[in-house]
Amino acid sequence: MIQQSNAQPKTVKAVGLISGGLDSILAAKIVQELGVKVQGVYFAMPWGCCDKTKALQASAQLGIDCIVLQLDERYLEIVKKPKHGYGSALNPCVDCRIHMFARAGQYMRSIGADFVFTGEILGQRPMSQMRHSLRMIERESQLEGCLLRPLCAQLLEPTIPEQEGLIDRQRLLNISGRTRKPQLELARRYQIKDFLPPAGGCLLTDKNFARRMKDTLDHGYRTFRETISLKWGRHFRYSKDFKLVLGRDEPENESLRSFAHSDDLIFEVENKKGPTLVLKGYDPGPEVLTIAAGLVQRFSSFKDSPEIEVEYWLVKDRTNIRKVRAKKLSDEEIERMKV
Ligand code: SF4
Repeated sequence: MIQQSNAQPKTVKAVGLISGGLDSILAAKIVQELGVKVQGVYFAMPWGCCDKTKALQASAQLGIDCIVLQLDERYLEIVKKPKHGYGSALNPCVDCRIHMFARAGQYMRSIGADFVFTGEILGQRPMSQMRHSLRMIERESQLEGCLLRPLCAQLLEPTIPEQEGLIDRQRLLNISGRTRKPQLELARRYQIKDFLPPAGGCLLTDKNFARRMKDTLDHGYRTFRETISLKWGRHFRYSKDFKLVLGRDEPENESLRSFAHSDDLIFEVENKKGPTLVLKGYDPGPEVLTIAAGLVQRFSSFKDSPEIEVEYWLVKDRTNIRKVRAKKLSDEEIERMKV
């Protein structure tokens, strides 16, 4: 708290991005020690790849309230066409941060907080944490002067809360680079033991997921919900109009069934004696139907049997079950369709 001229104490408030990783926890700890009331924000990825539980647990241990903001269709637009490009896979890290920080900024203004802070460290990541990227992200998220990076603040221009004396710059840190030593030392000092490994979890950095997402963005999708099911199953593309997704185990079969679009076709061996396949696309002809059935047979215990019949139905018309004879597929044919 600081004294205002009319002697009324002002509570300094800040919105902190909490991921559950060590850097975000340390940043919150440091800001709290400056007497600032911290409100946490956790951004949940549409694909559920990051660990919300850990972030909420960390917030509870810090004694701060944390809200969850969901990344949605707007985020998918960014993944589709990021202004600042991709990292090693389909991760649009700079645009992703701009989007999240801008939303954190809106939240900051809505609750009358004084600034936003993050656990970013100068030079830790080549794409989004070099000096020029930090500045650009701050500018494009409309947080100029209001975005504090407590772990490296002494190496950056003073922010408005520092200039106005709301927080003491001398008590902020000057960590830079990729080393984790100073953070681990601070974790020992603060007895922080439970945190996520650095940079873990984002599916957009996973080459397999990125390939499927790219295929979907290139060929189109009907609903945002459809993109969530990209994290399950084996994916095959028959043509630009038809895609086939096959569950690898029962939980995946179940997830694929429940996230299927109402115009998708579901393929299964009678009595569920094999994987579930979801065929995406409208009005498939006989060839694609036999291939869908062939994939179901190939990945079932009937792999070496003569061609079997596979049941299929439209998601929105579960009562109209039809049958199609599977086409035996060679490994080369399967490999060619793999996404
Ligand atoms: S790794 Fe994923 S969550 Fe993190 S900034 Fe990049 S795109 Fe965003």
